[in-house]
Amino acid sequence: MKRTREFEHYDGCGYDDPDNCSACALTDLRQDSPNYAAWPLAYIENDRAIPGKWFKAFLEELKDDNQAYVDNLYQTVAKYGVRFNRVSTRPLG
Ligand SMILES: [Zn+2]
Repeated sequence: MKRTREFEHYDGCGYDDPDNCSACALTDLRQDSPNYAAWPLAYIENDRAIPGKWFKAFLEELKDDNQAYVDNLYQTVAKYGVRFNRVSTRPLG
């Protein structure tokens, strides 16, 4: 499976920049959901468990208006599976 660099913070990132850093946007648990388009695909394609806090947000993604995106998400889940972590306030690396 392809790996992407979406979970790598940029050089000098203070781990507090979800507006400009994909890794922050994908892992900052202060957010109700990751501020990153198609974020479940980023998790699945990088074989990472989705934080339990965002389980409901994941279900909302399955109801997105973009049917092609939803179809792709279902197919990706069927192919690779999806994992969730327990709810935790611990920052993710
Ligand atoms: Zn960052």
